[in-house]
Amino acid sequence: MLLIDGKTFAGSGEDLPVLAPAEGVEIARVKAASAEEFDAAVAAARQAFPAWSATTPQERAALLLALADAIDARHEDLARIEARNGGKPITQVLQDEMPAISDCFRFFAGAARVMQAPVAGEYVAGHTSMIRRDPIGVTASIAPWNYPLMMAAWKIAPALAAGNTVVFKPSEQTPLTMIELLPVLADLFPAGVINVVQGKGADTGARMSGHPDIDFISLTGAVETGRAVLSGATGNLKRTHLELGGKAPVLVLDDADIDAAVECVATFGYYNTGQDCTAACRVYAEAGIHDRFVAALAARVERIRTGDVMDPATEMGPLISQAQRDRVAGFIDRARDTGHIDVLTGGTVSDGPGFYLAPTLVAGARQQDEIVQQEAFGPLVSVTRVSDAAQALDYANQSIYGLASSVWTRDVGQAMSLASRLSFGVTWINTHLTTINEMPHGGLRQSGYGKDLSMLGLEDYTVARHVMIQH
Ligand code: NAD
Repeated sequence: MLLIDGKTFAGSGEDLPVLAPAEGVEIARVKAASAEEFDAAVAAARQAFPAWSATTPQERAALLLALADAIDARHEDLARIEARNGGKPITQVLQDEMPAISDCFRFFAGAARVMQAPVAGEYVAGHTSMIRRDPIGVTASIAPWNYPLMMAAWKIAPALAAGNTVVFKPSEQTPLTMIELLPVLADLFPAGVINVVQGKGADTGARMSGHPDIDFISLTGAVETGRAVLSGATGNLKRTHLELGGKAPVLVLDDADIDAAVECVATFGYYNTGQDCTAACRVYAEAGIHDRFVAALAARVERIRTGDVMDPATEMGPLISQAQRDRVAGFIDRARDTGHIDVLTGGTVSDGPGFYLAPTLVAGARQQDEIVQQEAFGPLVSVTRVSDAAQALDYANQSIYGLASSVWTRDVGQAMSLASRLSFGVTWINTHLTTINEMPHGGLRQSGYGKDLSMLGLEDYTVARHVMIQH
């Protein structure tokens, strides 16, 4: 289903099969938007822009709050669909994702009303200057499959709050929760303010980056996709906002609380089957605690409960697709082939239905190994021994990615000193992976640029303008 100019209808483009990763079977077919339908979505967004951008923050906030309430009212249905289509444990979707999704709309509803700028004043004698923050225009957003509805919220909420109109594309692998929400969006928002198109990245996605009447494009996806979007956007010099891959280093120092570090890596190295751009997947353990840490982590990872995603006790589900499982298994095979990397636990794919791969921990990985340098995006954590904190810091920063990092130490001074030198969008100290709507999320280097969430995220969906009046 598409939502274009306030109407929901099936697209007339190609058929897109949608799978349940835990079952390995097709559960739906979705029609992509044709080229004409895509153009109609952009035209509807353009037509709706003048009136929508002239609404007050209070009016926009009221609609975003109503959307948050509607999501809360349907949270069990949405969670079930997300769990099945995304291969996610239902308990995690219900407890972690659904509340964060409605809260994201509530946060941006409030944020739209309290944007800040320097005070208006006479910075040149006889002239008054003021800063405006205006919407950009027609914004396009492209979401990945790892947190389908949450990524939709991260993109749609700030765009609408700031007064932009939106053309949104879910991942072709996980369109179902957004489809469930389309009638709500159609009821709440004026026609054309929010449009949803379905389609593959290479065609619908490429059309979004190339379209001359889209002013801004936001992508969450792989680094290669970021490059494609960036080069597609050159025609009309669209503003771009790229949240790309990650390979988060976890620095575990000799004075760390080892039990806490083990528990956190076992949780957040494998959360969402490791298909998380901030997953705790690249551990540097200081020599004094390395062996004890690795042994305890291996024992804990073995106990992660994998299985039926609808079973409330399941902690880890399958990978999103056969292709993604093959990709991650390839990393493990090549790690084994190095001769110096030990697969301590996991490393096996299951025989049954679904794209399961056991939670895998490897030790003995060296800094230049593929498994340390490249994002695998699966339930795969590597541990590398380091001589001291300085080497851990050096190794952590030697990466094309710069999204997330964490430091484990009881020494506050050391933690703050390392945090100041780690070159990542976020550094957690004695924790990992927690995001919150008030705080920004976004990367450095090839992890991309631009912020999701927070006031900084809202500002990214506006343009600052100077107005000067001569007295
Ligand atoms: P992907 O890049 O394959 O797909 C993401 C989206 O981009 C999909 O909607 C897809 O249809 C679209 N797309 C693909 N090719 C395109 C093209 N040429 N032009 C325009 N759009 C195109 O990524 P994925 O496999 O869905 O998600 C996994 C990746 O996303 C990982 O690399 C992960 O690290 C990254 N990710 C980053 C963040 C972050 O906040 N930085 C969050 C989640 C996921």
